[in-house]
Amino acid sequence: MTTPPSTSPDSGPTAVDAPEATAALPSILEHSRDKLTSIMLELGEKKFRADQLWRSIYHETAESFEDMSTLSKPFRKSLIEKYSLSSLEQATFVTSADGTTSKALYKLHDDELIETVLMRYEADGHRRNRKTACISTQAGCALGCTFCATGQQGLRRNLTVGEIVAQVIEMQRIAHREDEAQVAEGKRTTGELQGVTNVVFMGMGEPLANYRNVMSAIRVLNDGQGLNIGARHITVSTVGLVPQILQLADEELQINLAISLHAPDNATRSQTMPINQRYPVQELIRACHTYADKTKRRIFFEYVLLKEQNDSLEQAQKLGRLLNGLHCHVNLIPVNPTKEGSFERTDLATAKVFQSGLKQYGIPSTVRMEKGIDINAGCGQLRERAVEILGA
Ligand code: SF4
Repeated sequence: MTTPPSTSPDSGPTAVDAPEATAALPSILEHSRDKLTSIMLELGEKKFRADQLWRSIYHETAESFEDMSTLSKPFRKSLIEKYSLSSLEQATFVTSADGTTSKALYKLHDDELIETVLMRYEADGHRRNRKTACISTQAGCALGCTFCATGQQGLRRNLTVGEIVAQVIEMQRIAHREDEAQVAEGKRTTGELQGVTNVVFMGMGEPLANYRNVMSAIRVLNDGQGLNIGARHITVSTVGLVPQILQLADEELQINLAISLHAPDNATRSQTMPINQRYPVQELIRACHTYADKTKRRIFFEYVLLKEQNDSLEQAQKLGRLLNGLHCHVNLIPVNPTKEGSFERTDLATAKVFQSGLKQYGIPSTVRMEKGIDINAGCGQLRERAVEILGA
């Protein structure tokens, strides 16, 4: 058993106020659509220019202001003088041997490193093929979950709205290039360009500890004239910050909520997730009932299986009793071992027995083998490797 880091569980909610860095030239991605319109008017441009600019940035995902050919040259020049477009510099990019998962490490203007993952899924009879971007919301994380590489790094700062959205734009460019290559090969038509279909806030950091910026980013991703990612294709994952879950219930967003639960009782959960000392399991589940009642949305529970830690049949039955009566689905994830962590991966047979324990209580579940094991696609693991390689 790994000794929990010294991080106080109190540090979670206070992370909302973590400082944000400022760039030399402000990123245009930091602005909402309304704000962009008022900036255009200040620059002496017509209102419709803001719509053109918005589409160039988020729909066409232009790589530079120069490339925005619908805008006049003088307008592009004034944008170049006042704003930056991309706030991310790619440090590394790796793709798994089976080609399904790519992971980018991005350097921010203050040398912070964050990770973004693109996962490609084939159609499986129930669902069409899709591309999911897994994005980061903080540089590091204060919450100190002992099985998580990011949690072992500590929190450095919240990401800005622009830094969160820029990750999806980068993944969209990659996805579009792949779509276009398939068109050239005759494997799809231009009418079938797909791009990124889903976004999950499951990368580095606790999204609800950066609540305001994450909500603003979701509204940008969801805009029909831009990236147009449907709310039901967006998932926010949290370790269980109860006040923010209750706040989210009132946002009237149709997004998915995923709770990283990982244990059915306080004694087990507190061993790996210090946040549990602040918001114990019963309080968290009460908040989930409120959320489900208000939003009518099913809640997803993420349960990382840690060998001989939380993967017994008895623990599955306890989890079944805990979630009984809640509209939910459990994703069982055999852990991606980290270098410092002392946990081993639960084998598939044990995972299936666990699943049968949940079934006794009518709780639906899926065993999800993590993608990208060979490229350190677990949370925070690529940054860990890069710090070694780059000396960053
Ligand atoms: S699992 Fe999530 S909340 Fe826990 S330490 Fe890692 S990034 Fe933070």
